Amino acid sequence: MNSGNIYVIAAPSGAGKTTLVLALLAAEPQVQLSISYTSRAPREGEVDGRDYHFVSRETFEAMIARGEFLESAEVYGNYYGTSQVWINEALAAGKDILLEIDTQGAAQVRRLFPQAISTFILPPSAEILEQRLRNRGKDSEDAIERRLKAAREEIAHVEEFDHIIVNEHIDEAVRDIIAIVRAGRLTLNRQVARHSELISKLKGA
Ligand code: 5GP
Repeated sequence: MNSGNIYVIAAPSGAGKTTLVLALLAAEPQVQLSISYTSRAPREGEVDGRDYHFVSRETFEAMIARGEFLESAEVYGNYYGTSQVWINEALAAGKDILLEIDTQGAAQVRRLFPQAISTFILPPSAEILEQRLRNRGKDSEDAIERRLKAAREEIAHVEEFDHIIVNEHIDEAVRDIIAIVRAGRLTLNRQVARHSELISKLKGA
């Protein structure tokens, strides 16, 4: 069976992950982004079914109890999870799928799918990280400190990932993430499955 790859992308907030993911999806339309479920309220401009499937805490907990998540985690007091059914269908259809999840979720996915290809996005410096977190609206010093702490806790897991991209120049970072996705499709297993006929003909078999 020609099944697709699972690409996991994690990053602290302030690393520029969303911009990178959007550019990747535009360049590689075969990659399907998994839309997570969350119990957090939609932010301004977010659309249900596009950014997340927004559900209540009760619905989310019932979904956990029914085993409907491939992975789930509580981040800043809200639940987030990846749909098991959606992933199974996408993989069976041979699609490459992209999971934009936190490091707890990434660890769960790695246990279930050791072949998943994971990438961590880093900001180019501690100063820039802090600056980006500060620029996100008029938050109190407390809120900014909390975000910085959360970012540091995510970054503590960087060594668990297969790839690291330092997002200093966005164009270069976009090329890097595209390179990771494309290289993942050129591995022996994928290529032998895709080109078995060509390979046996070329071998003269
Ligand atoms: P935000 O609320 O800012 O959209 O996301 C907060 C954090 O939750 C981010 O680190 C994001 O990657 C993570 N996240 C989003 N969806 C999922 C998911 O389905 N599973 C897990 N484990 N984390 C998620």
